[in-house]
Amino acid sequence: MLDALSALVTETVGDAARGWDVAGEIPLDVLRGLGAKGVLCAEAHPEFGGLGLSGTDNGALTAHTGALCSSLRSVMTSQGMAAWTVRRFGDKAQRVEYLGRLTDGELAAVAFSEPGAGSDLAAMSTRIRRDGGEIVVDGTKTWITVAAYADWIVVFGRYEGGGAVALVPATAPGVKVTRVPDPLGCRAAGHATVELDGVRLPEEHLLAVTGLPVVMMTTIALTYGRLSVAWGCVGILRACVEAVARHAGQREQFGKPLLQHQLVARHLAELYAAERTATFACEQASRAWDTGSPEQVPASVLAKHVAAGNAARGAASALQVLASSAATGGHVVERAYRDAKLMEVIEGSNEICQLILAEHAASTAG
Ligand SMILES: Cc1cc2nc3c(=O)[nH]c(=O)nc-3n(C[C@H](O)[C@H](O)[C@H](O)COP(=O)(O)OP(=O)(O)OC[C@H]3O[C@@H](n4cnc5c(N)ncnc54)[C@H](O)[C@@H]3O)c2cc1C
Repeated sequence: MLDALSALVTETVGDAARGWDVAGEIPLDVLRGLGAKGVLCAEAHPEFGGLGLSGTDNGALTAHTGALCSSLRSVMTSQGMAAWTVRRFGDKAQRVEYLGRLTDGELAAVAFSEPGAGSDLAAMSTRIRRDGGEIVVDGTKTWITVAAYADWIVVFGRYEGGGAVALVPATAPGVKVTRVPDPLGCRAAGHATVELDGVRLPEEHLLAVTGLPVVMMTTIALTYGRLSVAWGCVGILRACVEAVARHAGQREQFGKPLLQHQLVARHLAELYAAERTATFACEQASRAWDTGSPEQVPASVLAKHVAAGNAARGAASALQVLASSAATGGHVVERAYRDAKLMEVIEGSNEICQLILAEHAASTAG
């Protein structure tokens, strides 16, 4: 099935990724088409209309997509994380209802970040409260990937003594979605600010009244997101390896191909090593995810940290080799350079990943 899904993504993207990046938009029918085939959240269980891919195969599909278009891969990450949130925190009826929608072409964004809560999600101030048979959601979420396309915003917030998730229709009264203008990278991923002003919904839209602190709930959701972003970075690295190998093998300076200049060859060697180590870290984390090992949490952070750093350095290196050939808007390596830098910021920045890894190392040492 993985080969068929990869072929479908290749065929769908075709040569459009550059145009999507320049325009800052992926046509909605493309996203709905892939969504309705289950490709955007391919791990969802067949019982709920999904394809039931393993985490490892879904990772390979995510890397394949990331090599073609990081904006589309970002949509895949959000949709997959939304599906995982419903699966993890929803009851049976909610899984049937919402996973059915997400595998049927409806699109979802996942909203943690706020103006005062980026790295520090414990500072989140969005509130979800009950009022009679309804829930009411108030808050502002920033930089929410896919929000500009989404039918659903999966909103994390404070609820009574802990946290909860509200499934908010993007068209509900009190919801205002405003596109982030001119983002640095993943330009067609539909980033937006989402303002929620007294949004009233039936209580069936409330997930996870478990008493868990909101930051613990975000960690559970982000384990999926981190692994997905990590695989996306593997895709960026693969696209860079291919572009550098092709260009440096063909372009001649000083009477021979660039690749025969050892300082250029070193760039390719380092890129290749970066792609391989990121892949190994992702494969190890996906195996932990697939077996339900508790190692999946630190392994996903490790994979994300290694893959994002490697992708940012690797894309810079690829741009150095392609030089003026890649220095125009939307070129695959120019996109990689911008997109990869943002991967060091999101889903737990480099520094936040380092803090988590240091804590893990300290707790497991000796
Ligand atoms: C392209 C893109 C897509 C995004 N998509 C989503 C989305 O779909 N959903 C969502 O909820 N959010 C999303 N975000 C928001 C993203 O999660 C935040 O940008 C990220 O968590 C960092 O928060 P911040 O930008 O507020 O930076 P800050 O938290 O202000 O951090 C600024 C800098 O300080 C460092 N820093 C902060 N605290 C510490 C510390 N304790 N120790 C050391 N260094 C520290 C950070 O690493 C960073 O380098 C997205 C952002 C971008 C750019």
